[in-house]
Amino acid sequence: MTKKKKKWSDYLWIVSATYFTMGFFNISFAWLGTICFLIPLLMATFGGGKGYCNHYCGRGQLFLEIGNTLGWSRQKVAPRWLSSRWFRNGFLVFFLFFFIQMIWLTVQVGQGAESLHETIHLLWSFHVPWHWAYRTQLDPWLAQYAFGLYGIMLTSLIVGVVLTVVYRPRTWCVFCPMGNMTQIISKSKA
Ligand code: SF4
Repeated sequence: MTKKKKKWSDYLWIVSATYFTMGFFNISFAWLGTICFLIPLLMATFGGGKGYCNHYCGRGQLFLEIGNTLGWSRQKVAPRWLSSRWFRNGFLVFFLFFFIQMIWLTVQVGQGAESLHETIHLLWSFHVPWHWAYRTQLDPWLAQYAFGLYGIMLTSLIVGVVLTVVYRPRTWCVFCPMGNMTQIISKSKA
């Protein structure tokens, strides 16, 4: 059997791994995560459907690398409720609540009503100190957005990796808010 030739887009997991590493050392790089929010939504809006998920999502590829290439997955079927509509949509609302809260804090810091929080909000519960990564003196609101976004991105990575290990790679994708939003946009345009 001939092996499928890999394309450049099959290596985007390296970009994703680099993003998380760089955000550990310098939070300014977390801003690049905005691309992961905008591109899938723009692609879905302009007729690309789930093209981002299927070909260009480095995070989804990272789960495959961890689960399949490294073999760190039990390869078990995930509970069906994870992919049910009520859970996917409920999780999207939950995600948007924290996303809006992150934007609101950014605005507050920008207006001087709040001081910069040099922490990241992990797993929607813990404020973890991350001050060492504040190396480039950004405007406080720019730094606050970076800390907030990195917390969201790292949370999805941690949950996705745990699900990869416990169930299968890309179990996270069955209820990923970005995947769900692109699906909702694609369906609305069909
Ligand atoms: S569902 Fe989410 S994590 Fe999975 S490929 Fe799509 S955007 Fe990436």
